[in-house]
Amino acid sequence: MGDTLFGKIIRREIPADIVYEDDEVVAFRDVNPQAPVHVLFIPKQALATLNDASDADATLIGKLVLAATRWARQQGFADNGYRCVINCNRDGGQTVFHLHLHLLAGRQMHWPPG
Ligand code: 5GP
Repeated sequence: MGDTLFGKIIRREIPADIVYEDDEVVAFRDVNPQAPVHVLFIPKQALATLNDASDADATLIGKLVLAATRWARQQGFADNGYRCVINCNRDGGQTVFHLHLHLLAGRQMHWPPG
């Protein structure tokens, strides 16, 4: 895949409010938050979309989800709850083509989404 602005955030070429990092995952606050807490968890090894994930990426995707849930617990809002979203391509509303998981929390979410 081509480089995206999320690649630039991983490499610290553009600024971001990074809240979590390990060997495989980086998380930073969304520049246009849709909830009081809105953090994007991204794999350092870039996949463009969820469609590009294969069995070889199962562990990585599991780590991405678990990094988000662990951070939610550490921040103290896991029991109240939160929403995890991965948008895929046009109909999913994806705008940045580096796979990312949105972690939204701090307000009551509604269903179905718009
Ligand atoms: P998508 O629509 O692809 O699922 O989500 C992309 C997200 O990236 C959007 O929520 C958008 O606000 C966020 N975003 C876009 N550009 C930047 C940026 O430069 N910095 C940060 N922190 N977030 C960004």
